[in-house]
Amino acid sequence: MADLHSAAKPDQIAVTHLSLNLGVDFEHSILAGTVTLQLKHNDPTADTLWLDTKALEIEAVEADGKPTKWSLLPDVPHHGQPMAIVVTGETDSVKITYRTTKGSEAVQWLTAEQTAGKTHPFLFTQGEAILTRSWIPCQDSPGVRISYDANIQTTPGYMALMSAHGNPTAVSADGHYQFRMPLAVAPYLIALSVGQLAFRPYDEVTGVYAEPNVLDKAFAEFGQMRKMVNAAEQLYGPYIWGRYDVLVLPASFPFGGMENPCLTFATPTILAGDQSLVSLVAHELAHSWSGNTVTNATWDDFWLNEGFTVYFERRIMEAIEGKDYADMLAVLGYQDLVETVQEIGPEHPNTCLHLDLKGVNPDDGMNDIAYEKGYFLLRHIEDQVGRKAWDAFLRAYFKRYALQSITTEDFLKALDEDLAKPQGTTLAALGVDAWIYKPGLPSTLTKPMAKRFDAVDAYIAKHTSATVAWDTTATTSWSTHEWLRFLRAQSDSLGVPAMTLLDQSFGFSSSTNAEIEAVWYRLAALNGYEPAKANMVNFLVHTGRRKFLTPTYKAIIKGPWGMAFAREIYGNARPNYHFVATNTLDAVVK
Ligand SMILES: [Zn+2]
Repeated sequence: MADLHSAAKPDQIAVTHLSLNLGVDFEHSILAGTVTLQLKHNDPTADTLWLDTKALEIEAVEADGKPTKWSLLPDVPHHGQPMAIVVTGETDSVKITYRTTKGSEAVQWLTAEQTAGKTHPFLFTQGEAILTRSWIPCQDSPGVRISYDANIQTTPGYMALMSAHGNPTAVSADGHYQFRMPLAVAPYLIALSVGQLAFRPYDEVTGVYAEPNVLDKAFAEFGQMRKMVNAAEQLYGPYIWGRYDVLVLPASFPFGGMENPCLTFATPTILAGDQSLVSLVAHELAHSWSGNTVTNATWDDFWLNEGFTVYFERRIMEAIEGKDYADMLAVLGYQDLVETVQEIGPEHPNTCLHLDLKGVNPDDGMNDIAYEKGYFLLRHIEDQVGRKAWDAFLRAYFKRYALQSITTEDFLKALDEDLAKPQGTTLAALGVDAWIYKPGLPSTLTKPMAKRFDAVDAYIAKHTSATVAWDTTATTSWSTHEWLRFLRAQSDSLGVPAMTLLDQSFGFSSSTNAEIEAVWYRLAALNGYEPAKANMVNFLVHTGRRKFLTPTYKAIIKGPWGMAFAREIYGNARPNYHFVATNTLDAVVK
């Protein structure tokens, strides 16, 4: 399957293993060293190894220990510079000496000031979707699977961690670390983080890494990790990656989490203090199956990674917290889906599950459609065949395609052979085509219900006077999800008096729960609610999670504070954001 976002030609020569040897230079914000690529010749007549690179400084290239000819082609928008290396049909390995540059978008270098500890600089990489090529010359396509090993040299006093086996439990005296990922993974899953970090295990399988002053809080938040791993294995088969640890990054991390194998990278915005946002850990853990074991072959098939993972995440949460809890997640997801379809347009091809991302940055096509429409498709199939048959199919699916990169058509093939036919039905009867290849919301989409939200809705309906304070006794046992239901039900044009009343009753402006903050600040910006303004600005400057930033900036621009104010905040905050976030926000705050 051709990957339109990669210059690699693995059908001619494929990279099968990669050895990194890199030094970390915090002073100049550079990673420098070598990568050695092991080759497999699929076409013996091929004499060129094609790699992806972006903003790298290449110093030398050797084929089997001898200098060889190479060239960098002109820059292709979004893709970077294809690299051509002359080899023979006999060449076993290619070694490239190189360094990263300021343009290496995967790597974010944080100053000490930008960390929680404020004493040491920090770095992390974010490879998905097509950014690994900006710190490692490689065949940067999810359809190419490679094992890897790495030697990382840092200044003594720092800890280095990777998406691999061999993560340290203590800081090494000489700053040298060694890693090994023996299973073949997609290149976007290679990840590195270096900083002042500490580790605390829960047991022999799970544990937490964080900056020392965040470790206690993080450890308390993720106490259910082992339970999640057990629940996941019970559902869909053995966890094959060895350890499962979570690394809590500084706040500029652009995503909620990134499912780097063995070591989920996570935002500190899920540290709510009451474990109420840990479904994100269930999500990243679920990716160990859907995404890392069975991987989308191209970014057009992205929904295979995310739709399956959202489904799996909610099944883990159902196993741990019960059905009523998981139902709340599904209803919030449904709201997100309906909103996203409205925003993009129900006829827009980007609302199909199977995408056509030709010529665009794949990151720009990744929205709630893959996650939530994907989730509801799987739920739709489950509803028709029953949970028992559906779970058996999923277990077989993860086995059938283990450590492979597959397309949507591969999924449909398995669905037909291993589920539809044995159940005496057909893909046409299951109606999957409309979900995958047609835009908008399918007619067979069933709107989910959540009992616990019925109680929230009833509570809102009871409050009929806009001048009487809210009865706060009814809300004491609410989780974050109930608060989100409550806040999302408020009108965008609520008005300052109603917002004041809400704030006086519930103290939303001083919330430290990032999910609640983001919804509240959006309302505050739309309504020009001054008492929330300072905390909102602080939130925007110190949080890098794109999911929170985008709607808040959009609300500021739309509301009375306007574009000029958005521009002012963005000017201060932008240096704290990763490329993934600025790439989106540069188009919003103009
Ligand atoms: Zn995901």
